[in-house]
Amino acid sequence: MEKEECLFCKIIKKEIPSEMLYEDDKVIVIKDISPQAPIHVIIIPKQHIADLNCLKQDESPIIGHIYMVAKKIVQTLGIAENGYRIVSNCGEQGGQTVQHIHFHLLGGRMLKWPPG
Ligand code: 5GP
Ligand code: ZN
Repeated sequence: MEKEECLFCKIIKKEIPSEMLYEDDKVIVIKDISPQAPIHVIIIPKQHIADLNCLKQDESPIIGHIYMVAKKIVQTLGIAENGYRIVSNCGEQGGQTVQHIHFHLLGGRMLKWPPG
C-alpha cells in the first residue's frame, strides 16, 4: 500500500481524527479505536514503514525510541508497576490489519498467554 492511502499516515497528518496521548517528531501514541483491554494504545512511527520485514538497518533506531516512549507512557497511564504488554503484529498470520508498523500497548487487566 502506498503511504498516501495509509490509514496511520492519515492519522499522523491529522487528516483522520484520533485520540492522541503523545506526539514528538518521530512517533505518535493514539488510543485504539477497538480497545482489547482497559488501556490499549498504539505507538506509531511517523515514517511509513509497512512492517518489520521492510525495516531497514538505518531505520532501526526508531524501534528503541518507540520502547523509550512506551516506558514514559506506562508511567503516565499508571500501569508500570502492575504490568502491561507491547506487541507488534506482522503479516496475515500475525494478525496485522494496518500495513504501517505499530506497537500495541495493552494493560489495565490480567492478560492471557498465549494470546491466541
Ligand atoms: P493491527 O491489527 O494491524 O495489529 O492493529 C491495527 C489496530 O488499529 C487495530 O487494533 C484497530 O482497532 C486499530 N484501528 C483501526 N482503525 C483505526 C482508526 O481509525 N483509529 C484508531 N485509533 N485505531 C484504529
Ligand atoms: Zn503509513
